[in-house]
Amino acid sequence: MAYDNAEQLEEFRLETRKWLEANCPPSMRTPMVDDEVVWGGRNATFKNPDSKVWLDRMAEKGWTAPEWPKEYGGGGLTRAEARVLEQELRRIKARAPLFSFKGKTRWCQGYSEPGAGSDLAGLQTRCEDKGDHYLINGQKVWTSYADKADWIFCLVRTDTSTKHEGISFILFDMKSPGVEARPIQLISGESPFCETFFTDVKVPKDQLVGRLNGGWEIAKRLLQFERSSISSSGFGGTGSLSPEEYAKQLIGTDESGRLLDGDLRGRLADHRMYAKAFALTVQRQTEQAKAGQAVGHTASILKYGAAKMNQDRHELLIEALGTEGLGWAGEGFDKGALRVTRQWLRSKGNSIEGGTSEINLNVIAKRVLGLKEHQ
Ligand SMILES: Cc1cc2nc3c(=O)[nH]c(=O)nc-3n(C[C@H](O)[C@H](O)[C@H](O)COP(=O)(O)OP(=O)(O)OC[C@H]3O[C@@H](n4cnc5c(N)ncnc54)[C@H](O)[C@@H]3O)c2cc1C
Repeated sequence: MAYDNAEQLEEFRLETRKWLEANCPPSMRTPMVDDEVVWGGRNATFKNPDSKVWLDRMAEKGWTAPEWPKEYGGGGLTRAEARVLEQELRRIKARAPLFSFKGKTRWCQGYSEPGAGSDLAGLQTRCEDKGDHYLINGQKVWTSYADKADWIFCLVRTDTSTKHEGISFILFDMKSPGVEARPIQLISGESPFCETFFTDVKVPKDQLVGRLNGGWEIAKRLLQFERSSISSSGFGGTGSLSPEEYAKQLIGTDESGRLLDGDLRGRLADHRMYAKAFALTVQRQTEQAKAGQAVGHTASILKYGAAKMNQDRHELLIEALGTEGLGWAGEGFDKGALRVTRQWLRSKGNSIEGGTSEINLNVIAKRVLGLKEHQ
């Protein structure tokens, strides 16, 4: 049943609250610990057994993807209902039951290649029709969690005589013979990305999505959704420290409870206003999308804004930390501070992933503002 008016939504809120009270285990109402994050997939591990209980219960309700249609494993909620669910989850400080792409099968995204990032349509991974199967040879790079993924959705070249119209979208199992994922270590000390190699990988023909050579349209649309979902999560990560609270804790407050450093206080206030305005913009865009307007190029505006916001937030946190922010590992440093330092380094990638800020600014200039290219 869809709850459309305020009274029905209130009814939905009460039912949701009751269900969450009964079904969200107490330990799932505590801050997320990095190694307890649940990513899903056939190799999913559950360090805390309650994580599995919480995931199973939420998945059964379809609430790991609340707005997806029920027939695809979602909850079939309207936007307004999904917002109520979000608010009720926040109210009890519930952890997200599941992260990233999704559920029983964990996916990775095979788009970028060593010679094709911003100019993605220049990709060269070759896919040949061998009669009863496709044969794939080539290399991807920056494939997030390829070493942990069950399946990949991949862009491949099926026609070399043309650029955009020679690309297809295909799915295959990462256990297929000829697939190799090599993790790359990053500035943050983690290895979430891989170089991914394909050598004579055989793929059944019914795993092509859409029509042969029609992959670019799917890829573009998917990127728009990626940009807009990155923006609505605000690069949330696994824990969300409020910069204001953190700064107060570290720097101290005056007699009226205000942060002692006036300059930092001003910049934190600016950041807070930006974040508030940004959240309202995301909400407006989501409403428009739900009312049938395409996600379109506004996704580039939001992606650009979200990257800037998250990077500014981490700069402020690092500044508040002072010398504590220089820590990397070891007993001498506070665990929270070590985490902030690594997340600050991780946030550098926000203006690259899902399309760089420069490319998003180009899209905004051309497609939103209608500016002509400089000759
Ligand atoms: C955290 C993270 C996760 C990622 N996950 C994945 C993933 O799962 N799967 C995947 O396929 N890829 C992934 N990527 C790769 C990402 O999509 C690419 O890094 C990105 O598209 C940029 O491509 P590139 O690195 O080749 O840089 P390039 O395209 O070589 O760009 C280098 C620099 O030149 C600038 N530039 C390039 N062209 C222009 C232009 N026309 N105008 C102005 N400036 C320009 C860029 O803005 C950038 O600063 C991930 C990247 C990050 C950081």
